[in-house]
This record gives sequence, C-alpha cells and structure tokens, in this order.
Amino acid sequence: MTSLRYGSSSDTGRVRANNQDSMLEEGTLFAVADGMGGHTGGEVASSVAVQALREYREEGLTRAVKLANRAVWARADDEPGLRGMGTTMTALSLVPAGTDDDGDVLLIANVGDSRTYLFRDGELTQVTQDHSLVEDLVREGQITEAEARIHPQRNILTRVLGNEPDVEVDEFPVIPVAGDRYLLCSDGLFNELEDDRIAAVLRRIADPGEAARELVRLANEGGGRDNITVVVVDVVDDDDASARASAVLAANGVPS
Ligand code: MG
Repeated sequence: MTSLRYGSSSDTGRVRANNQDSMLEEGTLFAVADGMGGHTGGEVASSVAVQALREYREEGLTRAVKLANRAVWARADDEPGLRGMGTTMTALSLVPAGTDDDGDVLLIANVGDSRTYLFRDGELTQVTQDHSLVEDLVREGQITEAEARIHPQRNILTRVLGNEPDVEVDEFPVIPVAGDRYLLCSDGLFNELEDDRIAAVLRRIADPGEAARELVRLANEGGGRDNITVVVVDVVDDDDASARASAVLAANGVPS
C-alpha cells in the first residue's frame, strides 16, 4: 500500500468578506475548489462541487469531476439567486493501478485556475494547466508569468465547473514516489507568492499541515487579496509501487 500524509489550511485573506474556497482531504482523495459568482454563489458552487466529488468518487476521478460540474450547473439552474455561479476544481486521487499486486497510481484532475504542483528533489513543477485568459496569453508569448500574476483580467477563466451541463476535464496520471510532495492550491496562494518562495517553504517544513499554514501566512503577508487554500499531500511510502505501477501503466494505459 502506498501511504500518504497530509495537511491543509484555508483562509479568507485580508480583503475579501468571506471564504468562497472549499477543500477536501479524505485519506486518498483531495481537492481544492475556488468558487465565484454573486454574494453567496461562490461559496455554494465550491462546496456543492466538493461534496459531489466525494459522493461520486467510486465512479473514477474524471467522471466524478464531470458529475460535480453537473451538480453545480443543476443547482445554478434551480435557484435564480445562484445563476451564473461556478467553481474551479483541482483534485488528486490515489487509486490502484491494476490488480492488487500492481501498486497504486495518483490521478490529478483539473478544471479552471486552481493548481496542483509536484515538489520532487527540491524542484517545484506545476502539473496542471490553468484554463484562464492570462494562461493563453502567456502560452502565446504575449505576456510573461510575472505580468500574468498582476494582469487586470487574471480572474477571467476559460473553463469552469457549473456554467454548462458538460465540461472537459484534464487528467494527469503520476506514479507515487516516496518523498514526493503534492501541493493543491487556489490562486490566492500563487498570485501572492512566487514559485521559489513556495518551494522554499516545502523544502524547510517537513510536516504537511505546518507547511500549509506557513504558505497561507506568507500569502497573507504578501497582501492576502483573495481567499487562500492549500492542501499538502506527502507520499510517505510507495512500497516499491513505482516500479510495478510503471510496468502496469506501460502495458495497460491509465485506469479510468
Ligand atoms: Mg481565488
């Protein structure tokens, strides 16, 4: 069995009146969702999405995110006060790669501009791709990453949960390796804190909950202009799973 250790922190920040982020940490399933729309819409959207993800987890990660989209969309359609609400979602799930002996694989799903990063061998890499206007502009070479962080239209998303009955979900499979840390976070973290400062905290603080709280503290110190949510998941033991899971993935492809 692959074993994980994890911790989290979420905060309203220093400017917003309420916290519209939601998160989930449940043994082998983790998520961060950043809601938007109206004065209560954002909170409802992110919490409906996270509850649906948990409820449908047995259906597979991508399918569960699609059902979460449907749940938010249906609720927005039902209640006039919630019309137009939506939410991001980045989720991480530990699942068996094949049969009992094949080890485990981590699946990462994403819609919107919350992020999952991998911290491995002291290096921080963003696993997910943002679905945002500024990400498109960076990719086209029109603006830099630094300009994206302060761009006036940085909140415009090109893909979210809840606006349409169906949504395309990005999925990234990764082999769990002992010593790896995964960081799930809302944009309230990385818009206030550059990657090298995030990496420095993950390098310095071993306890995942403590690391999450320190990241939130630094984002507040940096301005705290948005809600900040951080989940840190450490792969403690991979039970030699990586070698076996790699072989199974190579042979069978990614489990759904
Ligand atoms: Mg946000």
